[in-house]
Amino acid sequence: MDRLDADVHADVVIVGGGIAGITTAFFTLRNTEQSVVLLEADKIAHGATGHNAGQLTSYFERPLHDLVAEFGLQRAVEAQRNVESGWTLLDQILAETQLQTPVYRFTGYAGLSTLEQLVEHLKNNRCRLEGGLNARVIMVAEEWEGRNHIPEEYRDLITITPHSDVLSLLETSNEGFIACISAEKGCMNSALFSEELAGYLLSTYKDRFSLYEESPVQSVNLTQTNAELRVATHTVTATKVVLCTNGFENFTIENKEGPAIDTKFHHAIAGRIGYMSGYLEPLNHPPTAISYYSEPKEKTNDPAGEQYFYLTRRPYEHDAKDPHNLICAGGPEKVLPNGAEYSREDYCQEDMRSRIDEFLRDNYGKHPSNETTYAFCWHGLMGYTPNRVRRIGPEPCNPTLLYNIGCNGVGILPSIFGGLRISHFLRGDSVEPSIFDPDDQRCELPEYGN
Ligand SMILES: Cc1cc2nc3c(=O)[nH]c(=O)nc-3n(C[C@H](O)[C@H](O)[C@H](O)COP(=O)(O)OP(=O)(O)OC[C@H]3O[C@@H](n4cnc5c(N)ncnc54)[C@H](O)[C@@H]3O)c2cc1C
Repeated sequence: MDRLDADVHADVVIVGGGIAGITTAFFTLRNTEQSVVLLEADKIAHGATGHNAGQLTSYFERPLHDLVAEFGLQRAVEAQRNVESGWTLLDQILAETQLQTPVYRFTGYAGLSTLEQLVEHLKNNRCRLEGGLNARVIMVAEEWEGRNHIPEEYRDLITITPHSDVLSLLETSNEGFIACISAEKGCMNSALFSEELAGYLLSTYKDRFSLYEESPVQSVNLTQTNAELRVATHTVTATKVVLCTNGFENFTIENKEGPAIDTKFHHAIAGRIGYMSGYLEPLNHPPTAISYYSEPKEKTNDPAGEQYFYLTRRPYEHDAKDPHNLICAGGPEKVLPNGAEYSREDYCQEDMRSRIDEFLRDNYGKHPSNETTYAFCWHGLMGYTPNRVRRIGPEPCNPTLLYNIGCNGVGILPSIFGGLRISHFLRGDSVEPSIFDPDDQRCELPEYGN
């Protein structure tokens, strides 16, 4: 793809070519008549989108009951519904575009090992039911003595089942797992999906879509009606700019007609480096996604210290002659200190690699371990918003600027939903307020479509 080599103008400029930027472009082009320029600093899908586990899942990075406590039942459940709508939106994109990227859908599982973890999920389940969502199936091992301590108010939310069934669903022989939650899950290669979708947009919307790679934006200057972006020696102008940069972008934002945005924006996202390892296995088990919440080795409030691991298993696309399953396993994270540079090229840290290895050996034990062989490791940057909810919508201090950012560890389906929501703002629809709205006490949220 070309670098930007001239000044350009479009109705909308999108910054960032990960899954958020590409699906924002898809819905904007599909749902409006507007022209779109997409600027990517590197190559399409080389950010978090190209470094994840490919798990399709629709939970928040915070327990639902916690969101209910902050935002109220109705708003929190509506947001949960929004994220779950990502499933249908993904189906819709695939049906309309006929992309070839394989998408696997199945029931996935999460294993729990303590009463506290179980009660957390039961609270979430109660909120789901009270808000009109279907309840998750939570199976508890009948042999587990701790089940007598499950509070009475939640007993109607569990299914008692033999311990062997819990272990079998989790594909583990680790008897520490005493309960298991099932939920709709899936997996896909989100980088391949984004690249293919970019190709579709370029060929379908030749007259009003252009995409420039290796074109890092250096500055964004805003008025109430116009955005001017600097890319090397060139200028891109637009009536709206949508940041889909995952929060780490190296540019300045100057709000020429309103309160300063730059500092607030740059402090809005905190970085965590997520580590993953890939393993190959014979192609003799179906795709799956399983999470494992082990008993914490020590009490900690730091999510990076949690005993949480997860894996996805899907056919490996890159070796058609010798087909294998690819297992992507991850969980350990490290905080990126404020102001520190993250480099994609850095080697995987050995302590992270061995933690994942140990987890796999101790937990993913149903298959003979000599069939699962280590292939490679990688890491990626996750941007956490302070409240761990993605930001989707107009900047309250200047609605020329919109966001679909804050990847968090679960970002594929929320990014797709975010793309649709942004297209509604850009079309001038009357958009219901939501917990995804970027908020700022200095400025009222702009009204859309009224
Ligand atoms: C290790 C790891 C595992 C994960 N596992 C899962 C998972 O299993 N399931 C799930 O749902 N989510 C997962 N996630 C999260 C998911 O990958 C992200 O939420 C999602 O990919 C975010 O997409 P994005 O488009 O917002 O960000 P990105 O893919 O990071 O895209 C942002 C783009 O903006 C570009 N950019 C930045 N600055 C500029 C600039 N100045 N000019 C132009 N372009 C710029 C970047 O180069 C980048 O390409 C994981 C993330 C990591 C790191």
